[in-house]
Amino acid sequence: MKKNYLFTPGPTPIPHDALLAMAQPIDYHRSEESTALILDVLEKLKHVFQTEHDVLFLTSSGTGAMEGAVANLLCRGDKVIVIRSGKFGERWTEICEAYGINVIPIDIKWGDSVPPETVETQISENPDAKAVFATLCETSTGALHDIQSIAHITQQTPTLLVVDAVSALGADDLQMDNWGVDVVVSCSQKGLMTPPGLAFAALSSRAWEVTERSDLPKYYLDYRKAHQRGLEGSVPYTPAITLLAGLQIALNHICAEGIRNTISRHSMMASATRNAIKAIGLSLFATSPANTLTSIRLPDEIDGKMFVKMMREKHGITYAGGQGELSGKIVRIAHLGWMNENDVIVAISAFERGLADIGYDMPIGAGVTAVQEIFKK
Ligand code: PMP
Repeated sequence: MKKNYLFTPGPTPIPHDALLAMAQPIDYHRSEESTALILDVLEKLKHVFQTEHDVLFLTSSGTGAMEGAVANLLCRGDKVIVIRSGKFGERWTEICEAYGINVIPIDIKWGDSVPPETVETQISENPDAKAVFATLCETSTGALHDIQSIAHITQQTPTLLVVDAVSALGADDLQMDNWGVDVVVSCSQKGLMTPPGLAFAALSSRAWEVTERSDLPKYYLDYRKAHQRGLEGSVPYTPAITLLAGLQIALNHICAEGIRNTISRHSMMASATRNAIKAIGLSLFATSPANTLTSIRLPDEIDGKMFVKMMREKHGITYAGGQGELSGKIVRIAHLGWMNENDVIVAISAFERGLADIGYDMPIGAGVTAVQEIFKK
């Protein structure tokens, strides 16, 4: 009998009570009950975003909130700085360029994280840059960026800091208000343990002021419209009401655990996974790895594409492979969302078994032992 396990950095597994909530008969999105649902979800999201500012939502995947940030903050011909250290930093560039924005890239070797001083230098050389676009966890490499230090720099300047926390929200720490981050965007299918289809954004007061001057075209992704209607528990267009019902239950889990504890749980799962990979004798791809996922550099003799395919077909275990230039070269194991110690043990024991299947010479069981060592502490 085959049983499937999902260890990808989105979509992530969904708590069973959230699944059941989404199996209920659908409701009219302008009913009193739906209004209460929207207000409750938006209030609970503030806890996860670690902000007192309002959170708005769009019915789209995470990229919709990213595009919305560009379309709502910038003006024609503006200059921005983009930190590019993987596929999702590239995405910020592509969106900006689609809107005719002049991008000053900070290119970082894939797997590395940006030194905050580099951002400081770029801002001082480009004081007219309207925003820095960053990624909390660059999901394509597993690298975490030091958003706290970058925010410390941008706070001293008029340049806004916009952070893609699509994969890392609820897994890696991001204290929007305490650190002074201007815009945080995220979505439903990762740390928020809900299917894909909802995107979120939270804006600081100065970011909201900037939106008043933005002259880029926008309609569906108009943040101001979504924000105003959200405050009333309403929406400009028909929302993914079913997903909101699931999200409410998923958020109840996070709020009951408390965001600080949720992040600690992810930190423990990540350190156990990293410990296991080292014990197996493999190396980590990211120099500063996130809590969201662990990227494993594969030895040349292992074809990563074949390994990921074999694990899914033979063992029902879905890991993520490498993207872009990393295709076939890394395996990414997520420890994200509705997961605990036991899931990490499954992910690592299956990984060891898979390596044994392909005849890779390593001490089987060393990874699981290393996981248990972390949990024992
Ligand atoms: N940014 C990051 C860091 C991501 O991990 C992803 C999705 N993997 C995205 C943006 C894009 O999100 P979506 O696929 O939901 O549009």
